[in-house]
Amino acid sequence: TDSSGDWDVVVIGGGTGGYPAAIRAGQLGMKVACINAWLNRDGKPAYGGTCLNAGCIPSKALLESSEMFHKANHELALHGVKVSGVAMDIATMQARKTKICSSLTGGIAGLFKANGVVGMEGTAKLLGNGQVEYTPHAGDKQVLKAKHIIVATGSEPVELKIAPFDHQYICDSWDALDFTEPPARLGIIGAGVIGVELGSVWARLGSKVTILEALPTFLPMVDATIAKDAQRQFAKQGLDIRLGAKVQSAKLVGKEVVVEFESEGAIKTETFDKLIVAVGRRPYTKGLNAEGIGLELDARGFLKIDKHYRTNIPGIYGSGDVVGGAMLAHKAIEEGIALVEQLHGEKTEVNYDAIPSVIYTTPEVAWAGLSEEQAKAKGHEVKTGTSPFAANGRAKALEAAVGTVKVISDAKTDRILGVHMVGPYVSEILQSVIVALEFGATTADLQLTMHGHPTLAEALHEAYLAVDGRAIHA
Ligand code: FAD
Repeated sequence: TDSSGDWDVVVIGGGTGGYPAAIRAGQLGMKVACINAWLNRDGKPAYGGTCLNAGCIPSKALLESSEMFHKANHELALHGVKVSGVAMDIATMQARKTKICSSLTGGIAGLFKANGVVGMEGTAKLLGNGQVEYTPHAGDKQVLKAKHIIVATGSEPVELKIAPFDHQYICDSWDALDFTEPPARLGIIGAGVIGVELGSVWARLGSKVTILEALPTFLPMVDATIAKDAQRQFAKQGLDIRLGAKVQSAKLVGKEVVVEFESEGAIKTETFDKLIVAVGRRPYTKGLNAEGIGLELDARGFLKIDKHYRTNIPGIYGSGDVVGGAMLAHKAIEEGIALVEQLHGEKTEVNYDAIPSVIYTTPEVAWAGLSEEQAKAKGHEVKTGTSPFAANGRAKALEAAVGTVKVISDAKTDRILGVHMVGPYVSEILQSVIVALEFGATTADLQLTMHGHPTLAEALHEAYLAVDGRAIHA
């Protein structure tokens, strides 16, 4: 490792908030190092952070495999495809997942080389005065001096005092991606994105899944029409989602987890073979020495930054989960890149009003911009349009004609404020919504935009038309 001399940029963290920033800095001719502490379960270092090793990618791999199994059992016969003896080999499923992850994380080392980024595997500690102490996983400590330091140390699962992780019975999301068999009775605390995705995986593979959610509303960040539709679909699949269920305690009794929760004023008990605690993620700054050098964190431990990603200490910046906001990989990527381009004197900005959000269940839930409730609360006079997938030809051919698209527009300006959807592959349709939001499109613009036939996106077009009562297939 060439760590001699001064660095233009030292990036702390090689996740999605860090490694693309390092690559962009390399492309712009800066002398850049990326220090990444991540170790996988086999003790091997890996770039890509949570997303590539324990988040987005492994979860999507398992969602796909479990959906294949589900389809083989329940859907192929509808097409006339006759199969028998369908069985699930979990070890093969897990090996496939690991292969996908390692091919992506391994690719980052190659990208670093191609772009002149020096990757350093180990932990970084802030020393102040532009200095970073680097402790390699193997080898001696070094001190790097940098003009700019980017903190992209990410996040970790929130642990509940009443249900501490033992990582065998009471598990975090990473543990739940590595199960070697479906637990017969799987409990999940938290009906958020991660809870319902992991619940779907293991339910399709045979677990009886119960999700306990303290809030009275399902997916409160999603438009109520869409969230209700999604809840109905998930219930049909056998996910037992209990809203207003406040967990009081979770205790290991023998090889079972006994969970006590309060619901409708009464204390109830459920017993599980495994429990996943998926109640959110918190910023990770352990070992960084933020306090030691006076780096300001907010009350919840997020790194405080201004709109140019600057912390209270000149020369130190932040990006990704550790700075808060939407804890999503693509948001982390765009922040890191915008930040580096700003350091290079460019005016790149992130548009926080056009962030895609997706839950990769079947059907998927995807949204961007405001829900009807949020738009009204912000004082907009709204007009809305909905369109069901039930009438969509492509969805029918896919045997997936469920769900709804809802468009929320400003009644005065005709501007699109948000689109919230539940339905087949709506994550892919959402990208056209992001482009529309990015360009400030009006409903009329989108009504006049041709959508291919037969595509799932036609349901979106119909919803745009429905805003003004013009839908053809309503
Ligand atoms: P991280 O990915 O956490 O990376 C931080 C890196 O910094 C790690 O490699 C860590 O080892 C390193 N580090 C920490 N401290 C130090 C130190 N002192 N020195 C050196 N290195 C350090 N998002 C999506 O957009 N789509 C999805 O489908 C999606 N699915 C998810 C599923 C699950 C189960 C989970 C848990 C998350 C999911 N996310 C998803 C969220 C996504 O993973 C995060 O938003 C993203 O990883 C944030 O990137 P980051 O770089 O900020 O943090």
